[in-house]
Order: sequence, then C-alpha cells, then structure tokens
Amino acid sequence: MATPDYDWLIVGSGLFGSVFAHEMRKAGKKCLVLEKRSHLGGALYSPELHGIRVHRYGPHIFHTDDREIWEYVEKLVPMEPFVNSPLASYKDRIFNLPFNMNTFYQLWGVSTPEQAMAVIEEQRAEYKGVEAVNLEQRALQIVGKDVFNIFIKGYTEKQWGRPASELPPQIIERVPLRFTYDNNYYYHRYQGIPEGGYDRLIETLLEGVQVTRNVDYLKERSEWADRAERILFTGPIDSFFDHCLGELEYRSLRFEDELMEKTSFQGNAVVNYTEKEIPFTRIIEHKHFKRENDLDHTVITREYPQAWDRTREPYYPVNDGKNNALYREYLLLAATESPNVTFGGRLGEYRYFDMDKTIERALRLSND
Ligand code: UDP
Repeated sequence: MATPDYDWLIVGSGLFGSVFAHEMRKAGKKCLVLEKRSHLGGALYSPELHGIRVHRYGPHIFHTDDREIWEYVEKLVPMEPFVNSPLASYKDRIFNLPFNMNTFYQLWGVSTPEQAMAVIEEQRAEYKGVEAVNLEQRALQIVGKDVFNIFIKGYTEKQWGRPASELPPQIIERVPLRFTYDNNYYYHRYQGIPEGGYDRLIETLLEGVQVTRNVDYLKERSEWADRAERILFTGPIDSFFDHCLGELEYRSLRFEDELMEKTSFQGNAVVNYTEKEIPFTRIIEHKHFKRENDLDHTVITREYPQAWDRTREPYYPVNDGKNNALYREYLLLAATESPNVTFGGRLGEYRYFDMDKTIERALRLSND
C-alpha cells in the first residue's frame, strides 16, 4: 500500500468530527473531513430562512456546568445568552416546564413547595419500592400520576413511537423536577447559542482543515479508505459494517416550516405539545432564540417524530436492551475487523449526548 495522504480521515462534519479535526490540526496532523451532505455541521446546521436563523434539525441550546468546555467554545465563537424555558401546551392550556413550582401551581393551585411535594408524594406512593424497569414505571415513581399523564405519556409515546411501558427508564432521567419557581430548563452554570449560529462555530473549528462535501464515504469506500492512517467514523456504526449483524434502531424526525406574517406566533422559542392526539411534539419559533428582533414576520417549525428506515435521517438511538446488545456486538466486530477505525459521536457510539458531552468526548479522543 502507498503511504497514506492523511493521518486522519474524519467521516462526518458534525460537532464530534469537527472538534476532533480542529484538535488534530492543532497537533500538526493532516486531516481530511468527508461530509456526505452539501452543508457542514451535521444536526447543528442552522441556515437563515427569511432573515431568521433556523435550527434545521431541531433546537440546539448549548449548556454545560463545565467551565473548560464553555471556555473552549467561547474562544471559538462569541456566545449569545439564552435561557431555555420551554412551555407545554395540553388541551389548550399552557404550563411552564421543566416541572417546577410554576407548573404545580398551574396544575393543582398549590403555591408552596411543601404543598406540591405532598401532592406528588401521594400520587407516587403506590409506585414506590418496585424496581422500575421501564420509562412509565420510572416516571410514575419520580413525578406521580398527573405529571406523567399530562406531560410525559403522550409526548413520550409520540416521540418514540411505542408505549412508555416499553421504553428504557433512562430517557426520563433527562427531565428535571424541582420545587422552586424556576423555569430554566437546564439549570447549568453556562448556557447560550453561538452568535451567528452554529454554522459559525463549525466553520471556525474547521478552519485550515481540508473538507470535502457531497461525498458519501460508505458508497465510495474503496476510493477513500486507504488514504489515511486512521479513520474517525461518526455515522451509524451498523451502516459502517453494512448492517451485517442486523439493524440498530433509531427514531427519526420530520420538520415542517411555516412563514407567518406576524411578529410572534407563540411568544417563546419552544412549546411542547404533550397530547397524544396532536401529531407533532413541539413547535419551534426560531426568532426567539435571539433576544432582539425587529422583523414583522416569523418562522415556525413543527417537529413530527417518525419511524426510521434507511432512507431517513437517524436522530435518536433507541437504547433498549436489544439494541444495546447489538451495538456491543458491533464494537467487538470493529475491534477485530477495523482496528484503525474509531467510532465517535451520537451515531458512532449509539448514545444520546448533549453538546458539551460530545465536545468532551472528542477532546478526550484527541488526547489519546
Ligand atoms: N419529555 C416528556 N415531555 C416533555 C418533554 C420531554 O415526556 O414535555 C420526555 C420524552 O420522553 C423525551 C425525553 O423527556 O424523549 C427527553 O426530552 P428532551 O426534551 O430532553 O429531549 P430532546 O428531544 O430535546 O433531545
């Protein structure tokens, strides 16, 4: 084999691939990033539509408790302050999220933490002491019946396309419960959105890195595979191996935009629709990710969960026992068949990662 042209071939220009490419370039390594789409940034892509920056693949709010990670991002791109305070719409009533004293007041008319705790305590009493093996049981144990039935059951079943009793309990651990009047969803020390959008962050990360778009590595493997010493693959690990052990399951999404000739549609960036009967899970009004707007129109996006197949984008890994076991088999296969390939990011590692964790893991890999 001829001497490879690159130290690293990085497949995918999402956050994981871009951070890794940035670090490798700084370390003097020669990298090539291959991106199959015509745009960079993976799920962070946020182009302008009618003068409004649209989070093309769902809302992304950067939040972290880790000062180093925050400073890492801030050095690359100025951050605009943003606090995520989504609302829930249920049968035409609006509630604050995450589940906090505002929500409990709106739900039960209780105004003190003691009163709210007493209601929740009573509603979850019968579920205590049993080992929660699915999302429904775990949610009922944490928040009790009303919160589960109004805010979790419908939303979750739309989002995942199966009964909450057939989903792994871990998903619900992402949703906060607190007894203060605080609508800040993430409760992290640092929170914001890059000025100029995530595209600017990705462009800055990839400055000085060779990038080729519109190339689907898996379709042109023979042309690219030998051109680098090592490969970082950030796409789905099962697709790398032609699904030879079987298909990992994902959940997909469909986005429907609407331009409206009014200054604001819902007065907030994110409203979750928690009823099962409404087919979308949330409406994003993109202009509210920015503090100031003088536009007299607005763009909203309805987010519809949908089943995944190979023709659709994989968004969420479905981390149940069966899929996790299959993923481990792919890891074993990778270790024996492709020792020069590393799998990283949400699809490569088959795990949901917040953006700060994605960066942390890419940095860790770059230090290995
Ligand atoms: N969830 C819910 N009701 C809500 C918001 C979230 O039941 O109003 C549940 C749902 O199961 C979802 C999980 O919490 O899949 C995680 O939601 P989050 O908003 O953190 O996920 P995202 O889709 O933004 O990554």
